[in-house]
Amino acid sequence: MSEAEERQHALLSPSSAWTWITCKASTAAQLGQPDDSSEYADEGTAAHELAKWCLDAGNDATAYIGRIITVGEREFEVDDEMAGFVQTYVDGVRERVEAYKLAGATVEMFVEQRLSIEHITGEKGAKGTSDCVLIACFADGHTEICVIDLKYGRGVAVDATNNYQGLMYAAAAVEEHSDFYSFRTVLIVIHQPRLSEKPSEWSLPIADLVDFVEKTAKPAAEQAMLYVESVDFAPLALSDFNPGEKQCKFCKAKAVCPALAAHVEETISMDFDQIPLSTLGDAVHMLDNDRLGVIYESLDLIDGWMKAVRGRIEVELLAGNAVPGVKLVAGRKGARKWSSTDEAETLLKSMRLKQDEMYTFKVISPTQAEKLLAKESPRRWKKVEALVTQADGKPSVAPEHDKRPALVIEPAVDEFEVVAAEDDGGDLV
Ligand code: SF4
Repeated sequence: MSEAEERQHALLSPSSAWTWITCKASTAAQLGQPDDSSEYADEGTAAHELAKWCLDAGNDATAYIGRIITVGEREFEVDDEMAGFVQTYVDGVRERVEAYKLAGATVEMFVEQRLSIEHITGEKGAKGTSDCVLIACFADGHTEICVIDLKYGRGVAVDATNNYQGLMYAAAAVEEHSDFYSFRTVLIVIHQPRLSEKPSEWSLPIADLVDFVEKTAKPAAEQAMLYVESVDFAPLALSDFNPGEKQCKFCKAKAVCPALAAHVEETISMDFDQIPLSTLGDAVHMLDNDRLGVIYESLDLIDGWMKAVRGRIEVELLAGNAVPGVKLVAGRKGARKWSSTDEAETLLKSMRLKQDEMYTFKVISPTQAEKLLAKESPRRWKKVEALVTQADGKPSVAPEHDKRPALVIEPAVDEFEVVAAEDDGGDLV
């Protein structure tokens, strides 16, 4: 089950733990709000399904290229790109199992295991699904539980350290297996193959996990459920909310949350207060890099809120509810396609078109070639591999605290300035 599906099944799910722990009003505020499952979230669900197939069957992801995975009303074809990223995760899990074994441990693996979280949140029958749980028992009696999470998004890099979702899965997995094992350490691993080949990891003693459950998760869950039970007769106060980029990001109340709207307004006015628009009499200066940097810090929050408001307006209009000042119009027509591929093929053939006019052929991709040759004929694969190139990732903007090293780009030399300095202008006369 994906994070998006998990959120629909439990009010206090592990994947939304940061939200309900950080903003105590959020659970009550989301009641009755529409779910806006995005194509990206559904694509993530498809990638999880593929990863499960691989780990369960011991296959590589390329074995499933061309297979269709249906998520809700959307269909996703396993292509080279999805297979490649999912394989990075699958390899990571397999390498970890091997590493445990090399260190002398016996290992058990549970893929997509449904885990009860009722003992943490108090919500009857609530469960979460951990992508992968490994239990490693070492000869000296040390037993480690490792919860591994696959995040398929391209968004912000997620750190395993103090990750509430990871801690919830770990606490649930410990409870599930504690009849048979006595765990000493917990390892939380987060794979984000579209952002990095290496996962983020955090190891903690079991006592710290117990502390998190008792001092953070349980009191927050109790408070959240109290608001849920009383919201009908005791409306939420603004002080019950705690807006912020991370907790509001996946909150279903985002579009209509008065606290977030006020927070965005406050953020914009605070940030823009730091930007003197007029510094010399009535002259207005263009924004310089210092000012752009100040604005950058608030962009994700503002952008997320704007998208949520746009989405909600669309949902209201599609449901036939009026939103003053806005209307629905017909969008661009879709791409043209054959109503019947078979009939089109027969008709084109009857017109005596040549094969290369009628069909497009494509040489197989490097991933497919590797699947075909690497195991059966490593020497042939080596020759083919020499023809494979891979473009570097395009530079992208990230906040200062991002863990990836900053690219060093030399500012472009202003050629005109250089020439002007050396040139006495004689040629122009
Ligand atoms: S949008 Fe943010 S502030 Fe509003 S309820 Fe959700 S998490 Fe809390």
